[in-house]
Amino acid sequence: MLRTNQTTGADTSARLNTIAAAALAFAAALSPALAAPCTNPDALGTSRTLVIDPSDHTRLGSMQYRETLPLGPREVVLSFDDGPLPPYSNRVLDVLAAECVKATYFLVGSMARAHPALVRRIAVEGHTIGTHSQNHPFTFHNMSPARAQREIDGGIASVSAALHGLRPAPFFRIPGLLRASSVEAYLASRGLMTWSADVPSDDWRRISDREIVRRTLARLEAHNGGMVLLHDIRPATALALPKLLRELKARGFRIVHVVPAGGPLVKTATAPGQWTVRVASRKPPVKRAKRTRLAGRNIERLRSAGRRTTLRRLGVVGQQDMARRRASARMAVIADENPGRPRGLFDFSGRVPE
Ligand SMILES: [Zn+2]
Repeated sequence: MLRTNQTTGADTSARLNTIAAAALAFAAALSPALAAPCTNPDALGTSRTLVIDPSDHTRLGSMQYRETLPLGPREVVLSFDDGPLPPYSNRVLDVLAAECVKATYFLVGSMARAHPALVRRIAVEGHTIGTHSQNHPFTFHNMSPARAQREIDGGIASVSAALHGLRPAPFFRIPGLLRASSVEAYLASRGLMTWSADVPSDDWRRISDREIVRRTLARLEAHNGGMVLLHDIRPATALALPKLLRELKARGFRIVHVVPAGGPLVKTATAPGQWTVRVASRKPPVKRAKRTRLAGRNIERLRSAGRRTTLRRLGVVGQQDMARRRASARMAVIADENPGRPRGLFDFSGRVPE
């Protein structure tokens, strides 16, 4: 809104800066191609932009849902949750810029209020910005609808305020992935798409940067690509990212940038089947797990999970089995990567990470 009182030169300059920042963010949000051109000939790069319409597919991510992004073989989408937080988010942005990679951010409203300039940097550098609630409570699965709505709407309002009133992308990730049907229904009613993930990096588990790279690559190889869940507020993640991106390039993975349809951006043509979660053709990782007295019972569980997966592919396992199957699949990955380790390392609760 224009002010009617007389303004000083400094005020005018500040307002112009604000308008310029907003215009840049708007341009970057609408047209990723307007972001700075890649000047690093050895960069991993962003191979293509995928434009999606949230009203077509409301819930994405094979960790929890039957649909995920329509990616081709060895295509990868990077997503970063919980920020922004200096200096780690700045470092992550530096690395992404150096590698000419575009990512999707799920920002927390309170963090955006604390670091609005960093929100604008993310937008201006051409990344997609979704939201992740106002305060990141770990109670979305048993929260009242009114509170959930306040958290969702508050997060969007805070990020929008940091972007000088521009709306973030209609993409939402539930904190802790603690889904509830009522929350997903509200998000869909608001035209918001619920994002889970395909590939956890485990970077919230206080593991080393080397271990983040190792686990993420192993899972991406197993999935032949997918949507990766990372946290740009973690020091180890910032440390891991250069190595991870170098390895993605060396192994022939390609980065896909996801943006919402709208304005001049028309959704990318896809077939419905491309969104359906496919079960990896690779044999279950449990085959390579070292059998120990502690792991033996778990291996039996994993074999049981494999049978359930087969049955589901045949269409004879119902929805009620999905949650247990997903927990088992996660356990399979962890058990495979930690053969012979004490049981305490594994997460048998079926809880999914933040
Ligand atoms: Zn989170």
